[in-house]
Amino acid sequence: MIQTENLTKVFQTEEVETTALNEVNFNVKKGEFVAIMGPSGCGKSTLLNIVGLLDNPSSGSYMFDGVDVSRMREKDRTQLRKGNIGFVFQSFNLIDELTVFENVEMPLIYLKMKASERKERVEKILERMKISHRRKHFPRQLSGGQQQRVAIARAVAANPGLILADEPTGNLDSNNGLEVMNLLSELNEEGTTIVMVTHSQHDADFAHRIINLFDGQIITEKHNR
Ligand code: ADP
Ligand code: MG
Repeated sequence: MIQTENLTKVFQTEEVETTALNEVNFNVKKGEFVAIMGPSGCGKSTLLNIVGLLDNPSSGSYMFDGVDVSRMREKDRTQLRKGNIGFVFQSFNLIDELTVFENVEMPLIYLKMKASERKERVEKILERMKISHRRKHFPRQLSGGQQQRVAIARAVAANPGLILADEPTGNLDSNNGLEVMNLLSELNEEGTTIVMVTHSQHDADFAHRIINLFDGQIITEKHNR
């Protein structure tokens, strides 16, 4: 599903040039659950953003689901991303002005799904994430754990084959963190491919494989199960 070759990303700001990724070869098969670890600033989020079609590499190639997306135009990347990739972030990134229901509905509006179909789909996902009793609430009225369940609901709404999670438990206490990890594991068991950045060894142990990044390079790789 994910195949990169010598993936390199250089950020240029005024006088400073930062090589965030340095010739990374990162491959993920359909159905895998992969964790990415490494110190702050080593390129984890940059890798996730490129893999998630939020950004283009400076050089190297990236095949997503058999399609060369290395230098795709932003419009085409966005289109491909919307139906195929769901994101979960450390800071939840819900839209404050929208209710729980509306947040989860958003990706389905982008996909031009009919209102009746949307309603049915959103209700089902909210049930599953055990958050339907909060459907009319706004993000600020929810606990961190509840917000992250809404974020996961939104990430899976369009039924994407790939979920990318950037430190999904980073702002949660251990109980809520465990709940989020259990949800991600369940989704993976049902066939969703997951790539997750984490600082927690405990969370990483939910993955099949752990990749360690250091200074923009993959330094070690370990199979868990
Ligand atoms: P991590 O997620 O592992 O903490 P990042 O991928 O966010 O690391 O960042 C890797 C490196 O790239 C860091 O040195 C960071 O400062 C730099 N970087 C990330 N994004 C940008 C950007 N948009 N502009 C300039 N430098 C960036
Ligand atoms: Mg990061």
